[in-house]
Amino acid sequence: MTPATREEASALDDKDPLARHKARFDLPDGVIYLDGNSLGPPPKAALARLQSTGEAEWRGGLIKSWNDAGWIDLPKTCGAKIARLIGARDDEVIVADSVSVNIFKLTAALCAKAPGAIAYHADEFPTDGYILQGLSNLTGSPLISLAPDASHGALYSDISVLVKSVVHYKTAAVADIAAWETAAQNHVAIIWDLSHATGVLNIDMQAAGARYGVGCGYKYLNGGPGAPAFVYVERRAAATLNQPLSGWMGHAAPFDFAPDYAPAPGVERFACGTPPILSLSALDAALEIFADIDIAAIETKAKLLGDLFLARCAALDLESISPPPSKRRGGHVSVRFDHGYEVVQALIAHGVIGDFREPDLMRFGFSPLFLGYRDVWDAAETLRNILETEEWREAKYSMRRKVT
Ligand SMILES: *Cc1c(COP(=O)(O)O)cnc(C)c1O
Repeated sequence: MTPATREEASALDDKDPLARHKARFDLPDGVIYLDGNSLGPPPKAALARLQSTGEAEWRGGLIKSWNDAGWIDLPKTCGAKIARLIGARDDEVIVADSVSVNIFKLTAALCAKAPGAIAYHADEFPTDGYILQGLSNLTGSPLISLAPDASHGALYSDISVLVKSVVHYKTAAVADIAAWETAAQNHVAIIWDLSHATGVLNIDMQAAGARYGVGCGYKYLNGGPGAPAFVYVERRAAATLNQPLSGWMGHAAPFDFAPDYAPAPGVERFACGTPPILSLSALDAALEIFADIDIAAIETKAKLLGDLFLARCAALDLESISPPPSKRRGGHVSVRFDHGYEVVQALIAHGVIGDFREPDLMRFGFSPLFLGYRDVWDAAETLRNILETEEWREAKYSMRRKVT
């Protein structure tokens, strides 16, 4: 039941088995952070790990730390931890590069194997489309931009690769992975962009028949600003793919310094250059948080927090573009308001941090490991105040900065 009072919200916090994890994050006082879907806050363990990686491993161990501190294996160790969150096997995920670069590598590898058109939805997260446009210019593969609401019936036979988000970055609508995979059969390879899904949704790639994916390390995984991303490729498929950024870290034996490229046996071939150890260390420590938590419980709580916020928004006559309580939803919600940018700035000034997405969307993420029901209640009350007093009209809130 959605709480109808602040007391009811507090009562839910008291019974919440996930509430204890809030203490594992280092959040500033007086902030209700509703942007964990965009940049997760620092786990205390990640901050400590940055310190020790710098001091003990880099300063103390110098180059020996590639072996002694396990640096060289971090892309795989982090990959195995992520694999458990998305229903993949430990050796099917590698951490490397950014989502953008990983989309390039994976799409190019799949197109080389099965030439044909590349498809994506027109309202997909922009970088996904930008990368595919660049790849299409480079290779001549036709590019098809599907209507936002195109269903799997649109997967006609000329398409060889589809890039598609599991959770839409604006609406938080969730794609039915298994249904798309069934429609794709074996003629379309679907690359699932798990950026807004990993760490908040209960995903089972193997059970859904999904063979390819990419995703983000800095959103719900809390790996830190610019944390590296990941690639998932099903074990058998990995051995058949040749990705074009054939750098030495994806080589079968990088330290043989052989003149010719020979890919590593599995998904490791999707690595390219030297891994960013400082970032990987923080991500590795951040991922430990998930070790003893049931991801299904995280999804359930994220949904209830979102339901509560949407109920409060409905009371303020704000229109939601996100799935209603009866439907599956990612961890965020978006509501419309003409002056959404200004309102979000006013909220931030009051310690409630969300973000704004063009043209008129106020977006709020409900990362359940550090947020409670009363936090969400209080955030909605702050929003109500700002709308009722029209405080957002103050000139200082309309100043646009580079990152929104
Ligand atoms: C956040 C996000 C990205 C980010 O890509 P980077 O190259 O890592 O900056 C890509 N796709 C989607 C769907 C995202 O939500």
